[in-house]
Amino acid sequence: MLKVVEINNLTVEYPDVKALDDVSLVVNQGDFLGIIGPNGAGKSTLFASMLGLNTRYNGTIKFFDKDIKKSKNYLKQLGYVPQKPIFEKNFPVTVTDVVRMGLRKESDENKIDEILQQLWIHELRERRIGELSGGQQQRVFIAKALVNNPKILILDEPVTGIDQQSIDLFFSILKELNSKQKITIIWSSHDLDAVNKLANHVACINRTLFFHGESEKFFSNDELVKQYSEASMQEHMHHH
Ligand code: ADP
Ligand code: MG
Repeated sequence: MLKVVEINNLTVEYPDVKALDDVSLVVNQGDFLGIIGPNGAGKSTLFASMLGLNTRYNGTIKFFDKDIKKSKNYLKQLGYVPQKPIFEKNFPVTVTDVVRMGLRKESDENKIDEILQQLWIHELRERRIGELSGGQQQRVFIAKALVNNPKILILDEPVTGIDQQSIDLFFSILKELNSKQKITIIWSSHDLDAVNKLANHVACINRTLFFHGESEKFFSNDELVKQYSEASMQEHMHHH
């Protein structure tokens, strides 16, 4: 199995808080990894570090066996959908414009149409981004992340504040990207049921790594799920 990501002993300390403590993870090609953890667990910090946006960490992060501090080439193989971007209704940018922003080479303009069709937003292509529903906007940002044919797609809590119909469509799109196009997916969520349904691997993070392995091994172990839920609930109350 080809390792696409290898994280060893990742620790991230902000001035006031240790966001990640000694986290180690491996993601193999074709994995659909669900990263679960409550608010403040360090999920976005993990992604920021993997994307090279946060460079102040201890430990190592490798993509395709290369340390990301030594080579940025891996970024070309990576699509990233950030936690909910917000647009003003009249922000003068169309759906096509947003997807084009993700394009590395202008010569690949024809890929835009292809990806818009694949994500069921082709008929919206001339609409302004701010006029669309949350679910439609989300598909536009996935299209932007996919337009360069990445091998890995990273999504940060992508269903917050989106209607159920869009969530279902979104999940079926992710499943298809993973199973048919063999895109490795790393997806953070606090929806245990959704992770159970979609992901084949699970990493439970709450500053430290609580569990990492096949999702079946996690979800079929009631005691483990209970322990995790109680631990993250406590942490949650502690923070609020
Ligand atoms: P999650 O995405 O799981 O909700 P985050 O990675 O956003 O968690 O946050 C983890 C912890 O680190 C939280 O306590 C948060 O307040 C803190 N934190 C996140 N980003 C920063 C930052 N840029 N500077 C300082 N503290 C941060
Ligand atoms: Mg986050």
